[in-house]
Amino acid sequence: MQKLEKLDFTISGKTIPPASGEYFESYNPFSGKPWAMVGRGTAEDINHAVQTAKKAFLEGDWPKLTPTERGKLLRKLGDLVAENSERLAKLEVQENGKLIAEMRMQINYLPQWYYYFGGLADKIEGSVLPIDKPEHFAYTLHEPLGVIGMITAWNSPLLLLTWKLAPALAAGNTTVIKPSEFTSASSFEFVKLVHQAGFPPGVVNVVAGFGSEAGEALVTHPDIAKIAFTGGSETGINIYQKAARGLKRVSLELGGKSPNIVFDDCNIENAINGAISAIFAATGQTCIAGSRLLLQRSIHDEFVEKLIKLAKSARMGDPMSNDTQVGPVTTLPQMKKIIEYMEVGKNEGADCLLGGVRATRPECGTGWFVEPTIFTGVNNQMKIAQEEIFGPVLSVIPFDDDDEAVEIANDNAYGLGAGVWTGSVARSINIPRQIRSGTVWVNTYRAVSYMAPFGGYKKSGLGKENGQNAIHEYLQSKTVWVSTGGATQNPFIMR
Ligand code: NAD
Repeated sequence: MQKLEKLDFTISGKTIPPASGEYFESYNPFSGKPWAMVGRGTAEDINHAVQTAKKAFLEGDWPKLTPTERGKLLRKLGDLVAENSERLAKLEVQENGKLIAEMRMQINYLPQWYYYFGGLADKIEGSVLPIDKPEHFAYTLHEPLGVIGMITAWNSPLLLLTWKLAPALAAGNTTVIKPSEFTSASSFEFVKLVHQAGFPPGVVNVVAGFGSEAGEALVTHPDIAKIAFTGGSETGINIYQKAARGLKRVSLELGGKSPNIVFDDCNIENAINGAISAIFAATGQTCIAGSRLLLQRSIHDEFVEKLIKLAKSARMGDPMSNDTQVGPVTTLPQMKKIIEYMEVGKNEGADCLLGGVRATRPECGTGWFVEPTIFTGVNNQMKIAQEEIFGPVLSVIPFDDDDEAVEIANDNAYGLGAGVWTGSVARSINIPRQIRSGTVWVNTYRAVSYMAPFGGYKKSGLGKENGQNAIHEYLQSKTVWVSTGGATQNPFIMR
């Protein structure tokens, strides 16, 4: 058997093998076969990386840089990501199986985060307080937190990392990154660009491994100031509890079960395109998947018929091919989970009008594919309407009027995204106000930007990424008091 390439950690700018000497396999979801061996990080490796990041935070070149100089490094990093985007995109497809067209677009967009937060680095200003005490001068400073632990999911490895890393570095922190055990490779390649850009060694470190080993060691390490996390809600809650013991800050980007609401006054063709891309793009493996399609009853049957026709036309196959429209599921456990949910939906009494099984089309080969699936007759209390499936499984739920649409949309533990399709100006303003989620798209879906705050309500998370305020997720404020009065007074006399 061909020997697989070994992927090691990056600590202090050097390639470091795992302390245990152990590796685990990384799989290509299209072939279903391993293609590389990834270092299995343990508490020892995490401690090494955290100590290195702590040293880089406190001494050496990094803390001496001015914010303007940090900004320049970030912009240089953005340029390098742009120059290497095709290579990084292909590497991600090899591990997460998402379409090359999507990953190319995603990676080509990443430099904007480095330019935006690079530009913001020297625009963070404290303030002089118009203080009420005579003979005192008081002002505030915004200072970095220290070493940030970054833990990411497998669906968009470098995008999820960039949303954390760009503001954290702009603010002057240092980092230890623990990518998903299913998709570590692109983070290792990316960190080489960080050093090529000129960031001092130790500012950005990467240790791979499993959540229960490397991940937990990072969350519980006493020298970690904050955990920036993207992943499932249960994992997020677990991390929140563990971080609380060390009084660490957290930002948590978690799961979703987003409603996509279609009113009968909308442009039907646009809404059909929106509904399809909301659930079948990335094979449904996005936190913002529009997995609950709420259809006004008057257009229900016509809409479903057209929806199925379009969904049926999707070409499945090799995600590296520009012609493919639906790729494989990233991991074998995830494929099994999706198939289980398809069975749950059938047993709950929903009507499976499309898919509902593993895909065995010849073009899917030995890959981990499931058929795009549409359930109608779904009641919002069913498990397939309440729980995040993270696959191409759509639950169609009918409603009669605006109040009922809002009630169904909000009747869920999650609150990440929501779609509203309408031709009415009043609805396009009134409905988003009533939806309890961090993002609402009107007559569009899935749009994100470096300048648009993103994050969840309810069980979908804590904190916001993107937009100017995101840098404050990585800063703390200090108040400085200066006496201008000369002599101090008798401490036993209060004033
Ligand atoms: P996951 O929670 O299983 O794993 C995410 C990361 O957490 C991985 O790196 C994993 O190794 C690590 N981890 C697992 N257990 C841990 C522990 N006990 N301590 C520390 N780290 C631990 O999630 P996943 O399956 O990789 O990703 C899918 C989930 O991510 C979905 O729920 C999806 O909605 C969510 N997601 C959210 C967003 C968002 O921005 N809100 C974006 C993408 C994905």
